[in-house]
Amino acid sequence: MLTNLVMADGGRGPFAPSKIVCVAKNYAAHAAELASSVPTQPTFFIKPNSCLCDFAGPLALPTGRGPVHHEIELALVIGRRLRDPAQAGMDAVAGYALALDLTLRAVQNDLREQGYPWEVSKAFPGACPIAPVLPREALAEPQNARIGLAVNDETRQNDSTALMVYDIERLLYDATAAFGLEAGDVLLTGTPVGVGELRPGDRYTGWLEEHRYDGSIGG
Ligand code: ZN
Repeated sequence: MLTNLVMADGGRGPFAPSKIVCVAKNYAAHAAELASSVPTQPTFFIKPNSCLCDFAGPLALPTGRGPVHHEIELALVIGRRLRDPAQAGMDAVAGYALALDLTLRAVQNDLREQGYPWEVSKAFPGACPIAPVLPREALAEPQNARIGLAVNDETRQNDSTALMVYDIERLLYDATAAFGLEAGDVLLTGTPVGVGELRPGDRYTGWLEEHRYDGSIGG
Protein backbone atom coordinates (compact mmCIF):
# COMPACT_ATOMS: atom_id res chain seq x y z
CA MET A 1 0.00 0.00 0.00
CA LEU A 2 1.41 3.37 -0.97
CA THR A 3 0.98 5.02 2.37
CA ASN A 4 3.25 6.95 4.68
CA LEU A 5 4.82 4.91 7.47
CA VAL A 6 3.64 5.21 11.06
CA MET A 7 6.14 6.99 13.30
CA ALA A 8 6.92 6.20 16.93
CA ASP A 9 4.88 9.22 18.06
CA GLY A 10 1.80 7.76 16.36
CA GLY A 11 1.77 10.23 13.46
CA ARG A 12 2.60 9.52 9.84
CA GLY A 13 6.00 10.15 8.29
CA PRO A 14 6.41 12.80 5.61
CA PHE A 15 7.02 10.42 2.69
CA ALA A 16 5.48 7.25 1.26
CA PRO A 17 8.04 4.55 0.44
CA SER A 18 8.40 3.86 -3.28
CA LYS A 19 10.09 0.52 -2.58
CA ILE A 20 11.76 -1.71 -0.04
CA VAL A 21 15.34 -2.63 -0.84
CA CYS A 22 16.54 -5.82 0.86
CA VAL A 23 19.90 -7.53 1.12
CA ALA A 24 20.39 -11.30 1.04
CA LYS A 25 22.64 -13.22 3.44
CA ASN A 26 24.20 -10.30 5.29
CA TYR A 27 24.93 -12.29 8.46
CA ALA A 28 27.38 -15.19 8.10
CA ALA A 29 25.61 -17.55 10.51
CA HIS A 30 22.32 -17.04 8.66
CA ALA A 31 23.95 -17.78 5.30
CA ALA A 32 25.30 -20.97 6.89
CA GLU A 33 21.86 -22.05 8.15
CA LEU A 34 20.61 -21.75 4.55
CA ALA A 35 23.53 -24.01 3.55
CA SER A 36 24.83 -21.08 1.54
CA SER A 37 27.84 -18.78 1.47
CA VAL A 38 28.13 -15.03 1.97
CA PRO A 39 28.09 -13.16 -1.35
CA THR A 40 31.28 -11.36 -2.38
CA GLN A 41 29.29 -8.12 -2.61
CA PRO A 42 25.90 -7.02 -1.21
CA THR A 43 23.16 -8.88 -3.10
CA PHE A 44 19.91 -6.96 -3.28
CA PHE A 45 16.32 -7.67 -4.11
CA ILE A 46 13.19 -5.51 -4.03
CA LYS A 47 9.91 -5.93 -2.24
CA PRO A 48 7.07 -3.86 -3.71
CA ASN A 49 5.54 -1.35 -1.31
CA SER A 50 2.37 -3.50 -1.25
CA CYS A 51 4.38 -5.70 1.14
CA LEU A 52 4.27 -3.08 3.91
CA CYS A 53 1.88 -3.69 6.78
CA ASP A 54 1.62 -3.11 10.52
CA PHE A 55 4.11 -5.22 12.53
CA ALA A 56 1.40 -5.91 15.09
CA GLY A 57 -0.78 -7.76 12.62
CA PRO A 58 -2.75 -9.92 12.76
CA LEU A 59 -0.73 -11.01 9.73
CA ALA A 60 -2.46 -12.83 6.89
CA LEU A 61 -0.03 -15.45 5.61
CA PRO A 62 -0.28 -16.95 2.10
CA THR A 63 -1.76 -20.44 2.04
CA GLY A 64 -0.90 -23.36 -0.19
CA ARG A 65 2.61 -22.10 -0.99
CA GLY A 66 4.59 -23.84 1.76
CA PRO A 67 6.11 -22.48 4.97
CA VAL A 68 6.43 -18.75 5.65
CA HIS A 69 9.66 -17.92 7.46
CA HIS A 70 10.35 -14.93 9.68
CA GLU A 71 13.49 -12.86 9.11
CA ILE A 72 13.82 -10.10 11.70
CA GLU A 73 15.77 -7.13 10.36
CA LEU A 74 16.86 -3.58 11.12
CA ALA A 75 15.13 -1.25 8.66
CA LEU A 76 16.52 2.11 7.58
CA VAL A 77 14.09 4.77 6.45
CA ILE A 78 15.67 7.11 3.90
CA GLY A 79 15.27 10.83 4.46
CA ARG A 80 16.12 12.33 1.06
CA ARG A 81 16.42 11.40 -2.59
CA LEU A 82 19.75 9.74 -3.33
CA ARG A 83 21.30 9.34 -6.75
CA ASP A 84 25.02 9.76 -6.06
CA PRO A 85 26.44 6.99 -3.83
CA ALA A 86 29.01 9.44 -2.52
CA GLN A 87 26.14 11.43 -0.96
CA ALA A 88 24.57 8.35 0.64
CA GLY A 89 26.03 8.67 4.14
CA MET A 90 24.46 7.91 7.51
CA ASP A 91 22.98 11.42 7.52
CA ALA A 92 20.65 10.27 4.71
CA VAL A 93 18.91 7.96 7.20
CA ALA A 94 15.86 9.66 8.72
CA GLY A 95 14.89 6.85 11.05
CA TYR A 96 15.08 3.22 12.06
CA ALA A 97 12.50 0.52 12.52
CA LEU A 98 12.17 -3.17 13.21
CA ALA A 99 10.80 -5.14 10.26
CA LEU A 100 10.11 -8.69 9.15
CA ASP A 101 11.24 -9.93 5.75
CA LEU A 102 8.65 -12.69 5.40
CA THR A 103 9.79 -15.41 3.03
CA LEU A 104 8.10 -18.38 1.35
CA ARG A 105 11.09 -20.63 2.00
CA ALA A 106 10.10 -23.65 -0.10
CA VAL A 107 9.23 -21.40 -3.03
CA GLN A 108 12.59 -19.66 -2.66
CA ASN A 109 14.57 -22.89 -2.44
CA ASP A 110 12.79 -24.40 -5.41
CA LEU A 111 13.43 -21.37 -7.61
CA ARG A 112 17.04 -21.07 -6.42
CA GLU A 113 17.75 -24.72 -7.24
CA GLN A 114 16.43 -24.16 -10.73
CA GLY A 115 18.58 -21.07 -11.14
CA TYR A 116 15.64 -18.67 -11.41
CA PRO A 117 15.17 -15.38 -9.57
CA TRP A 118 13.35 -16.02 -6.27
CA GLU A 119 11.89 -12.57 -5.69
CA VAL A 120 8.30 -13.88 -5.75
CA SER A 121 9.06 -15.78 -2.52
CA LYS A 122 9.47 -12.41 -0.76
CA ALA A 123 6.94 -10.19 -2.51
CA PHE A 124 3.42 -11.27 -1.51
CA PRO A 125 1.08 -8.63 -0.04
CA GLY A 126 1.97 -8.13 3.62
CA ALA A 127 5.46 -9.66 3.28
CA CYS A 128 7.05 -6.73 5.11
CA PRO A 129 5.49 -6.02 8.51
CA ILE A 130 7.18 -2.91 9.93
CA ALA A 131 7.05 -1.38 13.40
CA PRO A 132 6.61 2.36 14.00
CA VAL A 133 9.63 4.32 12.80
CA LEU A 134 12.00 5.68 15.46
CA PRO A 135 13.71 9.00 14.76
CA ARG A 136 17.40 8.53 13.99
CA GLU A 137 18.42 10.04 17.34
CA ALA A 138 16.63 7.19 19.11
CA LEU A 139 19.25 4.67 18.03
CA ALA A 140 22.65 5.69 19.38
CA GLU A 141 24.63 2.96 17.62
CA PRO A 142 22.73 1.52 14.65
CA GLN A 143 25.72 -0.66 13.78
CA ASN A 144 25.76 -2.13 17.28
CA ALA A 145 22.08 -2.59 18.08
CA ARG A 146 20.34 -5.70 19.33
CA ILE A 147 17.51 -7.09 17.21
CA GLY A 148 15.53 -10.21 17.88
CA LEU A 149 12.31 -12.14 17.66
CA ALA A 150 10.52 -14.52 19.99
CA VAL A 151 7.66 -16.69 18.75
CA ASN A 152 5.21 -18.01 21.36
CA ASP A 153 7.69 -16.84 24.04
CA GLU A 154 10.60 -18.82 22.57
CA THR A 155 13.53 -16.66 21.41
CA ARG A 156 14.48 -17.57 17.88
CA GLN A 157 16.62 -14.68 16.70
CA ASN A 158 18.72 -12.40 18.90
CA ASP A 159 21.93 -10.80 17.65
CA SER A 160 23.75 -7.52 17.26
CA THR A 161 23.77 -5.59 14.00
CA ALA A 162 27.54 -5.51 14.53
CA LEU A 163 27.50 -8.97 12.91
CA MET A 164 26.48 -7.62 9.50
CA VAL A 165 28.86 -8.73 6.76
CA TYR A 166 28.37 -5.48 4.82
CA ASP A 167 27.81 -2.54 7.12
CA ILE A 168 25.07 0.07 6.86
CA GLU A 169 27.26 2.60 5.05
CA ARG A 170 28.21 0.02 2.43
CA LEU A 171 24.57 -0.98 1.95
CA LEU A 172 23.53 2.65 1.51
CA TYR A 173 26.30 3.20 -1.02
CA ASP A 174 25.61 0.10 -3.08
CA ALA A 175 21.81 0.38 -2.93
CA THR A 176 22.02 3.99 -4.13
CA ALA A 177 24.32 2.96 -6.96
CA ALA A 178 22.01 0.09 -7.96
CA PHE A 179 18.54 1.62 -7.66
CA GLY A 180 18.71 5.21 -6.51
CA LEU A 181 16.70 5.83 -3.35
CA GLU A 182 13.73 8.09 -2.69
CA ALA A 183 12.79 9.89 0.51
CA GLY A 184 10.68 7.39 2.43
CA ASP A 185 12.24 4.27 0.90
CA VAL A 186 12.97 1.43 3.28
CA LEU A 187 16.23 -0.51 3.30
CA LEU A 188 16.26 -3.85 5.13
CA THR A 189 19.74 -4.80 6.25
CA GLY A 190 19.59 -8.61 6.44
CA THR A 191 18.64 -11.13 9.08
CA PRO A 192 20.69 -12.87 11.77
CA VAL A 193 20.66 -16.61 12.32
CA GLY A 194 17.54 -18.36 13.63
CA VAL A 195 14.93 -18.01 10.89
CA GLY A 196 11.96 -20.35 11.15
CA GLU A 197 8.33 -20.89 10.37
CA LEU A 198 5.38 -18.76 11.44
CA ARG A 199 2.02 -20.50 11.73
CA PRO A 200 -1.60 -19.37 12.08
CA GLY A 201 -2.32 -18.37 15.67
CA ASP A 202 1.32 -17.68 16.59
CA ARG A 203 2.15 -14.71 18.78
CA TYR A 204 5.50 -12.99 18.50
CA THR A 205 7.55 -10.22 20.04
CA GLY A 206 10.30 -8.37 18.20
CA TRP A 207 12.87 -6.05 19.69
CA LEU A 208 15.22 -3.32 18.60
CA GLU A 209 17.35 -2.40 21.61
CA GLU A 210 14.88 -1.44 24.38
CA HIS A 211 11.92 -1.11 22.01
CA ARG A 212 9.59 -4.12 21.97
CA TYR A 213 6.78 -4.85 19.54
CA ASP A 214 4.13 -7.53 19.89
CA GLY A 215 2.21 -9.10 17.06
CA SER A 216 0.22 -12.10 15.98
CA ILE A 217 -0.57 -14.28 13.02
CA GLY A 218 -4.25 -14.40 12.01
CA GLY A 219 -6.24 -17.52 11.41
ZN1 ZN B 1 15.89 -10.92 4.66
